[in-house]
Amino acid sequence: MKVQLLQVTPNSIEFIGKCAAICYDSSTEPEACVKRASACRDKGHLATLRFAHATFHVSGISRICSHQFVRSKHLDFLQRSQRYCKEEEAEFVYPKSKVGHIYEEAYTTSLNLYKELLEVGVKKEDARFVLPEATTTELVVTGNFQAWLDFIRLRADTHAQWEIRNVAKEINNLLAKETNNNIFEWMP
Ligand SMILES: Cc1cc2nc3c(=O)[nH]c(=O)nc-3n(C[C@H](O)[C@H](O)[C@H](O)COP(=O)(O)OP(=O)(O)OC[C@H]3O[C@@H](n4cnc5c(N)ncnc54)[C@H](O)[C@@H]3O)c2cc1C
Repeated sequence: MKVQLLQVTPNSIEFIGKCAAICYDSSTEPEACVKRASACRDKGHLATLRFAHATFHVSGISRICSHQFVRSKHLDFLQRSQRYCKEEEAEFVYPKSKVGHIYEEAYTTSLNLYKELLEVGVKKEDARFVLPEATTTELVVTGNFQAWLDFIRLRADTHAQWEIRNVAKEINNLLAKETNNNIFEWMP
């Protein structure tokens, strides 16, 4: 799994505070804006977070994980298409609960069947039906800071499955580093 921050609103925290200044007829000095952004987060004035955005490239996750990811309604996604892209070189995600060689055998069998179907002229969009949910995929995901905060709260939580949890924790980590502010303070 790899998560890369592609783009983020410049001086995002200051910008959030600057936008929020209009609500209170307040100072737009950088330091005051940063303080205000933090205060808005603490008070639950979360609409202010919608004025900053971040875009990530997430790759090497299973389609199980991507299916969970796309349930977040306020994030927007572009995903590698199995209708248009050949998956002959497909890689697979292995869960920790390995049982002998069962996963390896299932993945190899599926991939071989996929290739056979393509060879006899079946379209990619139909051949993909034999591929496992463990097949890796990649996405570009964008959203405002409130949407990312919602996603992190839900999916970095211990109730979420390990793979999406790792994605959420990495996104949290990258946003925390980028913003250096309480908005994305580490939530284990
Ligand atoms: C541990 C776990 C297990 C899950 N298991 C299942 C499962 O078995 N089956 C299944 O189908 N799904 C499952 N899900 C997915 C879950 O049902 C949600 O679809 C997904 O987590 C997105 O969350 P959300 O809809 O609460 O909010 P998001 O889409 O992330 O939206 C963010 C926020 O917007 C607000 N919001 C969003 N939509 C509405 C709305 N229509 N009305 C009012 N406010 C709204 C809410 O405040 C929400 O918190 C699971 C999720 C988790 C974390």
